[in-house]
Amino acid sequence: MVVKIEQRIKGFQVVDEVAAMQRAADVETPAPVQLDETLQRPETLFGVTYKINSPLSEHALYVTINDILLNAGTPHEQRRPFEIFINSKGMEHFQWIVALTRIMSAVFRKGGDCTFLVEELKAVFDPRGGYLKRGGVYMPSLVAEIGAVLERHLIAIGLLAGHELDEGQRRLLAEKWAVYQASQDAAAVEPGEGFPPGARLCDKCQTQAVVHLEGCATCLNCGFSRCG
Ligand SMILES: [Zn+2]
Repeated sequence: MVVKIEQRIKGFQVVDEVAAMQRAADVETPAPVQLDETLQRPETLFGVTYKINSPLSEHALYVTINDILLNAGTPHEQRRPFEIFINSKGMEHFQWIVALTRIMSAVFRKGGDCTFLVEELKAVFDPRGGYLKRGGVYMPSLVAEIGAVLERHLIAIGLLAGHELDEGQRRLLAEKWAVYQASQDAAAVEPGEGFPPGARLCDKCQTQAVVHLEGCATCLNCGFSRCG
């Protein structure tokens, strides 16, 4: 087909025929729903409540994260966090918790990437000092613990990759445990039942699991090792 151009050419575009056909096909199948602030909140949402016990708060905190399921039953099905609430019997942290959860919920509803919140929150430290969780993980603040809860949730719904060790790392850690136990009395602790008393905090995984092994400071949780 010949088209005579009568006016000045102000711009041009190379047309990709395959893409054009694809676009035509997309018109027939509705585009997948994306999460943004125009999306109305459904009447019902499903969520999970996590309990936080922290020495920095007199009462436990209950963190509820509700998810929205987008494009259910299609290849574009995706579960995303939609809102977060934190409840506690204690009122000492009330105002900043309300502010934080409202802003987090707003970030969730904007759509796009929300996983950055995990690192932002986990990096907050309390100038009065943090605390050790059961299992030896160091929490630098209550805010960081809320970040850790969000991380757990995002891993559970598949938005973040977990920290599963691969086969090689697992074998290496098992060997380090064996060496450690051989160097201790018969009463040495088993892997997974907490780390040896007196273990130091690991800079890499923030877990109190660093012991001295064959002249090297070695983390029995993540395998990090520093010699000399
Ligand atoms: Zn470590």
